Amino acid sequence: MKIKGNIAVKGIAIGYIQKVNSNIDEYLESYIQQDKETEMEKYQKAVKQVKYDLQQLVEKCSSNNQDTAIMDAHLLMIDDIMLNEKVMYNINNGESAPNAIKNASSEVENMLMQLEDTYFQERASDVKDVCKQIILKVLGIEKLAVNGSNRIIVADDIEPSFVASVNNEQVAGFVLKSGSTTSHAIIIARGKGIPTIVGADFDFNSMEEETKAIITQDGLLILNPSIEEEQLYKQKKINTQRLQSYFLSKVNKSAKTLDNNSITVAANIALSEDAKYLDENGAKGIGLYRTEFLYMESDQLPSEKEQFEAYKKAVIGCNGNLCIIRTLDIGGDKPSKALELSKEENPFLGYRAIRICLDKKDLFKQQLRSIIRASAFGKTAILLPMIINVDEIIKTKEIIKEIMTELEQQKISYDKNIKIGIMIETPASVIMSPILIKYVDFFSIGTNDLTQYTLAVDRGNQKVSYLYNYYNPAIIHSIKMVIDAAHKEGKWVGVCGEMGADNKSIIALLALGIDELSMSMIMIPEKKEFIRNYSNDLVDINKLLACKTPEEVEIYLGTIEKRINEAIEANYNN
Ligand code: PEP
Ligand code: MG
Repeated sequence: MKIKGNIAVKGIAIGYIQKVNSNIDEYLESYIQQDKETEMEKYQKAVKQVKYDLQQLVEKCSSNNQDTAIMDAHLLMIDDIMLNEKVMYNINNGESAPNAIKNASSEVENMLMQLEDTYFQERASDVKDVCKQIILKVLGIEKLAVNGSNRIIVADDIEPSFVASVNNEQVAGFVLKSGSTTSHAIIIARGKGIPTIVGADFDFNSMEEETKAIITQDGLLILNPSIEEEQLYKQKKINTQRLQSYFLSKVNKSAKTLDNNSITVAANIALSEDAKYLDENGAKGIGLYRTEFLYMESDQLPSEKEQFEAYKKAVIGCNGNLCIIRTLDIGGDKPSKALELSKEENPFLGYRAIRICLDKKDLFKQQLRSIIRASAFGKTAILLPMIINVDEIIKTKEIIKEIMTELEQQKISYDKNIKIGIMIETPASVIMSPILIKYVDFFSIGTNDLTQYTLAVDRGNQKVSYLYNYYNPAIIHSIKMVIDAAHKEGKWVGVCGEMGADNKSIIALLALGIDELSMSMIMIPEKKEFIRNYSNDLVDINKLLACKTPEEVEIYLGTIEKRINEAIEANYNN
């Protein structure tokens, strides 16, 4: 059986299906309820199992106070008399065990949320977590965890934290129903080089665990492949790995086009530890350090010390090249437990990124101070996300000035020459780019959001994903405006969205005069070789700008991509 999807991370994976479902409602619908006594027994058994698991975890993590505190709170919740009584009452009233737990959980959560004291409000999330664990046990589903190695994870959608927690041995690939290729979960999967297809049309319930499967490089999921198919894809995988080794053997060569135009190819990272892979992948520094992951990992805000250490590690890892650190870009599809943001109708248009930072000055100041202190260890730049006006830059610069004065008083060293750039990811920033550039040192175009905001298409919404297309002429023309505006002032422009690692887009960006491309580390060796085989005379810029539809743009760039790929192949075979 073959299932079609769209390629989000290109590659071949051979492994075994594991279903992951964080939405337990679907399981609840197909749950077969038994008599009251059996439901009661299932509940009590599940409680014992969760308690046992938690105790085991507490022992294992005794060195990490924060984790044990959370688990201790969960253990207390399990023994909570009121919660237990409510569940038993619901079961006695004819509810199934999972429903009885779910309803009791909501009741206790609501009650706690109404109390004034934030301590009790926080306990509401403990109740929810613990109850979810008990329900999963009743349903016979293990927690979100990878069982063994070489798994092809199938799911409706996955959370960034889940992708961040797995490694390439455990997970061979992801197959998702959701349609986004630029969601943060996918960006992390790309960074790890885990082949992923999205928008896959499958029935979750009829998918069988442990089925042998192949993800192909054309976006297909083959279930129960034949021996011939398995052989074929094993061979293709070997060929791809050989080609990758060829690209890796050339990483030390600069990314200079055939017409001698040097492009800076830098890495997008989410964790400071990633900086240690810069050299082996031929990255010239960090073009985008997504610092929000520091704020997403735990329900505590990171301290200045933690942040400073992380930024310092990234700066040092850049080995004399520039390290561009983006300030907190939380909100949208990036939640933060620590910030306790309330639910919004339109999170992508709401309280997020620079808006939160300027509103919570202490939080922003602490992050900026950590970045500025890290600048004492190497070339550093501050990158501001989601900018829509000059005012946001002026206010940030005032805070930076305040910090610098304090650091001087405290005799703490920093680089007075630290650069400041903004993300161009809103239509307002494109239109205002000739003015905005006067206030900053560089632009970094965030094409993931720029596409979403320019086309008014949610980057994570499967139903409108057919419209989410960065080949749209509106995006190409926006990028041209931004590059021209910056170059007029003698400043440089980069792209740090996913478009920067897409062959056809790279052709358009180079033709438009882009100076820097920042992308997932794993893409760098291949894309540097692509750039080395590009020359301006391959592209008729007027023809590109005259394209009226995304399809025309893609077809036009596709013909050039083909020629470049043929040249790369010829070099490889020689
Ligand atoms: C972008 O929007 O293109 C970008 C690089 O930022 P993020 O994907 O983190 O929103
Ligand atoms: Mg963005």
